[in-house]
Amino acid sequence: MRPYPINFVSIVIPVYNEEDSLPELLRRTEAACEQLNHAYEIVLVDDGSRDDSAHLLEQAASRPGSPVVAVILNRNYGQHAAIMAGFEQCKGDVVITLDADLQNPPEEIPRLVAQAELGYDVVATVRNNRQDSALRRWPSKLINLAVQRSTGVAMSDYGCMLRAYRRTIVDAMLACRERSTFIPILANSFARHTTEILVTHAEREHGESKYSPMRLVNLMFDLVTCMTTTPLRLLSIVGFGMAALGVLFAIALILLRLVFGAGWAGGGTFVLFAVLFVFTGGQFIGMGLLGEYLGRMYSDVRARPRFFIEKVLRSQPADPAPAITVDGFSSTSSDQVLS
Ligand code: UDP
Ligand code: MG
Repeated sequence: MRPYPINFVSIVIPVYNEEDSLPELLRRTEAACEQLNHAYEIVLVDDGSRDDSAHLLEQAASRPGSPVVAVILNRNYGQHAAIMAGFEQCKGDVVITLDADLQNPPEEIPRLVAQAELGYDVVATVRNNRQDSALRRWPSKLINLAVQRSTGVAMSDYGCMLRAYRRTIVDAMLACRERSTFIPILANSFARHTTEILVTHAEREHGESKYSPMRLVNLMFDLVTCMTTTPLRLLSIVGFGMAALGVLFAIALILLRLVFGAGWAGGGTFVLFAVLFVFTGGQFIGMGLLGEYLGRMYSDVRARPRFFIEKVLRSQPADPAPAITVDGFSSTSSDQVLS
């Protein structure tokens, strides 16, 4: 891993009905960025807020010499889409995302930049003392475990959006045209070196979480489908398992019937179960097969880049060979002759 030279840092913050947090957010983020030895911009994306947030952002951006860039979306598209919009507008060599509700302290920004400077493509954070209810913490633990298993990237806290991404990773994410996505996982699929640092987590001071239980379920589906189509394959696996059990059950019934006689078999009731198992299994296999086609179509429709080239190295050609002219003189020497 080589150190990564950084000239410009972008901070991208999605904002949805956060008018009460905005003044403090702007003040603290600017103060934190002043600690950096780099030029910076703070890109705030208003995700169709219904309160005064958009107006506050416009005001902040119109101050002379302001580092704030206000990106106003026409309606609410969701946190991850809003961050993507910010990515599209920012120009930093490293891009930091954080939440607008000050649950992620902006004071951590210089630490993230320092890690990115060491050469990490993605710097993630782990919430030291997560200030959320157990109802939020436990599902999130389960999901983290599942993601670790399926992407192979061991990260302990996918829910924390305070993260740093190198330019190449941001560009790769922008090349993905899918509508629903989960940025931390998408980023990891393009990253080579990743790291995690411990950060503090504060309670939300103003307003409440913008994620209702329904939106959380939606987010969870975004997360799962962004990473894999395995759940579709699970259908076939369940089907095969069920059909195989049905067949085994039938064989066991036949054997028991032969050993213990016709009276034992309860008039064939159990046989019905065996038949049912086999047919239900068959149905699942069929659904799984449909799922396989759907999964492939989904991957194609999503049109993610098939691969991500980090860099290309070619040896530089040696000094250009002198061009040979028809009369046998090289052009340079004939020029010299002429001059
Ligand atoms: N957010 C957004 N659009 C949405 C929902 C949330 O831009 O539709 C922003 C919100 O303003 C905040 C961040 O995403 O900056 C995280 O939202 P929230 O704090 O409600 O999520 P939680 O901390 O409860 O996971
Ligand atoms: Mg929050």
